[in-house]
Amino acid sequence: MQIQPLADRFGRVATDLRVSLTDRCNLRCSYCMPAEGLDWLPDDTVLTDDEVVRLIDISVRMLGIREVRFTGGEPLVRRGLVDIVSRTRALDSTLELSITTNALGLSRQAAALKAAGLDRVNVSLDTLRADTFHEITRRDRIKDVLDGLAAARAEGLGPVKVNAVLLRGINDDEAPELLRWAIAEGYDLRFIEQMPLDAQHGWSRAEMITAEEIFVSLEREFALTPATEPRGSAPAELFCVDGGPATVGVIASVTRPFCGDCDRVRLTADGQVRNCLFAREESDLRAALRSGASDAEIAGRWVTAMAGKRAGHGIDDPTFLQPDRPMSAIGG
Ligand code: SAM
Repeated sequence: MQIQPLADRFGRVATDLRVSLTDRCNLRCSYCMPAEGLDWLPDDTVLTDDEVVRLIDISVRMLGIREVRFTGGEPLVRRGLVDIVSRTRALDSTLELSITTNALGLSRQAAALKAAGLDRVNVSLDTLRADTFHEITRRDRIKDVLDGLAAARAEGLGPVKVNAVLLRGINDDEAPELLRWAIAEGYDLRFIEQMPLDAQHGWSRAEMITAEEIFVSLEREFALTPATEPRGSAPAELFCVDGGPATVGVIASVTRPFCGDCDRVRLTADGQVRNCLFAREESDLRAALRSGASDAEIAGRWVTAMAGKRAGHGIDDPTFLQPDRPMSAIGG
């Protein structure tokens, strides 16, 4: 079958699909959602397992997707996760399959996920201090995260990446400690700049910890040199730590945007295609699916949705407007 690439008018082609499996989460990270949670998507709007797998199948067979990352919300709370992973693996043995997770409960699911064909995990962990973990996530679950990480490593779901967001006055002093720990444990650490994607609209450019501040903090203890491997479309800039082989990544979405190399497309848990995290428009594939559209019609809608992708996220434009949906409902 002839592949119709998910191309935009700036020459970018999306081959990396982020699939949100739920907007629900069992943590309440302060930079993501309020303590009381959010109005979750009504159950009947969330794609069924069959609908998710059908859309992934179309994206792989007809649209050139080569990498699928399951996210949320928290993907581990989706009951059908292992089955969705195994059905996705059955579509194509060469697809790269990963999940982004807070790792709560991963120690119980890691073996099943590996057996289902998952390649690797990205785990979010912003601090190693139990009290700071509680302050950020409003839950006392740091031990579950550490257990989940260890289980992922033991099952060979690697390289195991750890993503950390630094918050001013809360954990911004922890960058070196996190890096020392990650190197000792064999995890690949990446720092992510905080983005204007929180439900409470509390993000401020002046308050966020920038990549520059992260470098300054790390370079007090480590020598960082740019890694030689080409970055390609990867969001993280990689640095060798003390000459390598250990590395650290910095995802400077705000201060050093990498939109020109973006190869990502997102599918929300309720079946909307978003061509950018910061897109203000979505394309409704759920309605198409449920009104009996053929695979070719759905693929056509998807191609059109991607063609309209903007050149950049525009966070620094005076006209920037935060998207209506927060990160947890888009799929981070
Ligand atoms: N629950 C999963 C997890 O914790 O990884 C997947 C979804 S979560 C929204 C994905 C990632 O987005 C996490 O690493 C989280 O720290 C990050 N995140 C959430 N809100 C963010 C924000 N405003 N800026 C930057 N990263 C954010």
